[in-house]
Amino acid sequence: MTKRCPLCGLGRLFRRWFLVKERCPRCNFPLERIEGHWIGAVGMNTVVSFGSMLATIVVGFAVTHPDPPIGTLLVVTLLVALLVPLLFFPFSRTLWSAIDLAMRPPHPDDDIDPDWIPPGRLSR
Ligand SMILES: [Zn+2]
Repeated sequence: MTKRCPLCGLGRLFRRWFLVKERCPRCNFPLERIEGHWIGAVGMNTVVSFGSMLATIVVGFAVTHPDPPIGTLLVVTLLVALLVPLLFFPFSRTLWSAIDLAMRPPHPDDDIDPDWIPPGRLSR
């Protein structure tokens, strides 16, 4: 959630908001480990975005009950639908990389700096 490398904790993994580096500059951890790696991040971003829209609608109706301003709620929900995926984008990438690292330990093919691999965590 802090846009840091899931292995060594270094920040600076993004060239720009939407452009992630291929590898961590410190430990050489590959941020895209397999083809299609980012599908998980896209899925997380989708869930967070739709969850935010649902929360906006539910809270909006609850706060303004019994006379909800439908037009205002629609505009606010559309703004949430536009902004949340853009703002959450880099966090979804590093968060997904951390989840992937937890599920699939470092592999020799990952070409990671061995100093950063915890003892006993290298898969064969
Ligand atoms: Zn790193």
